[in-house]
Amino acid sequence: MSSNQAYSFFESVEKSFDKAAQFTKWDKGVLEQIKACNSIYSMRFPVKLDDGSIEVIEAYRVQHSQHKSPCKGGIRFSDEVNQDEVMALASLMTYKCAIVNVPFGGGKGGIKINPRNYSVYELEKITRRYTSELVKKNFIGPGIDVPAPDYGTGEREMAWIVDTYTSLKPGEIDGAGCVTGKPITQGGVRGRKEATGLGVFFGIREVCNMEDVMQKQGLSVGVVAKTVVVQGLGNVGYHTAKFFREAGAKVVALAEYEGAIYNADGLNEEEVFQHRKATGSILNFPGATNLAKNTDALELECDILIPAALENVINGENAPRVKAKIIGEAANGPCTPEADEVFAKKGILCVPDMYLNAGGVTVSYFEWLKNLSHVRYGRMEKRFTENMNTHILGQIEELSGKKVSDQERKFIMHGPEEQDLVHSGLEETMITATREIMDIWKKDPSIPDMRTAAYISAINKVATSYAELGIFP
Ligand code: NAD
Repeated sequence: MSSNQAYSFFESVEKSFDKAAQFTKWDKGVLEQIKACNSIYSMRFPVKLDDGSIEVIEAYRVQHSQHKSPCKGGIRFSDEVNQDEVMALASLMTYKCAIVNVPFGGGKGGIKINPRNYSVYELEKITRRYTSELVKKNFIGPGIDVPAPDYGTGEREMAWIVDTYTSLKPGEIDGAGCVTGKPITQGGVRGRKEATGLGVFFGIREVCNMEDVMQKQGLSVGVVAKTVVVQGLGNVGYHTAKFFREAGAKVVALAEYEGAIYNADGLNEEEVFQHRKATGSILNFPGATNLAKNTDALELECDILIPAALENVINGENAPRVKAKIIGEAANGPCTPEADEVFAKKGILCVPDMYLNAGGVTVSYFEWLKNLSHVRYGRMEKRFTENMNTHILGQIEELSGKKVSDQERKFIMHGPEEQDLVHSGLEETMITATREIMDIWKKDPSIPDMRTAAYISAINKVATSYAELGIFP
């Protein structure tokens, strides 16, 4: 918690929860149970570094709720990790899964290290040791708790986790489902890597397609030609920028650790990424202007601002200077409750993290289902669909005496690949969740913001699930 914030991250989540709970019918005890973190595992373990010294590593795994099993949530590597942060992120996972109808409880893990300060071999040792600590305490498993990537982790770490888990649990037939976000060769699913960014895009696109909402924001319908600013060019930020650009929006600014760049004509995220790789910085990108500070990007004139780096970046201090009309919370907890109050006054629409960045967990769910079913998506139906489409097209051409173009033929006949099905499942999930939340908000004008409407959706679903289990008579 930094000195200019009134609340810790977990307290911020509780505050948002309480604000929403007033609009529900559930009694205090039920709400208290939903809010509480059920299990908190704080651990310390030693690791021998490459220079022979021994470092004691601080790490956590929090299971916020078991109203559905398994628990699900990423593992973060950052030197900012602390128990409060992991608790907050775990609870957001519970609400997120409920909103997008993914049948998991919330969980989250964190290791307090800056991965840049360690060799690959040291990171592998730390990740494997962390996994074995989780196994020892029964804090991981396809039916217990299923981690995934988060800030500072990716496919490589997930591969180490599944390898460690399956070697400690030989013969466990569903062992590959102990973690998601794995490389394809280790049981991953096609479409996972870009899932969170694509989900952010689908969610904001759906909001932008709502005529009444756009009218209120003074914007035209659709994403074409909208100006977008993205903070963080990591997994989530990169893909969000990519899908907006491909859909015809203009990504006018990108911000990273070292600074921010601006180009009114739009930036290509891949070119910026390559430039950063080659020079070590996004600054001095050809054709773009360097901004004085990286946080200046958050205060630019734009239609859509996407914070996709870390929490608490828009707070009571800088929110009054934010000029975006829509904020899409791609990161977890990027805007504080104080910022929300400022947005409400200024009429800024903040599309909340806990459903907007649910693409990762949604596709993780698809990966977990793939692991349990032991079959690649599309394997059973792709050829059948192609044969059927060929037949139908042949009949139409014969009866009409006309032929479709080669390009159309290719499109119509195409049977779904794994990635097609994953993207389609994600699109359906994000559109449905956006509409459900907007419907709650529109039905009761006293609900102050979309975050509160999202929490109401989550609270109702989790409480109903507890009630159906008979836990709350
Ligand atoms: P990542 O490590 O791939 O990328 C984060 C990027 O932000 C890095 O490039 C980093 O250099 C940059 N960054 C850090 N501090 C910054 C600052 N002050 N200003 C500008 N840039 C800064 O992580 P990610 O997976 O993209 O996760 C980003 C956020 O999205 C996190 O809050 C995470 O919890 C959330 N999230 C991630 C996923 C996922 O599937 N990866 C899913 C849901 C939510």
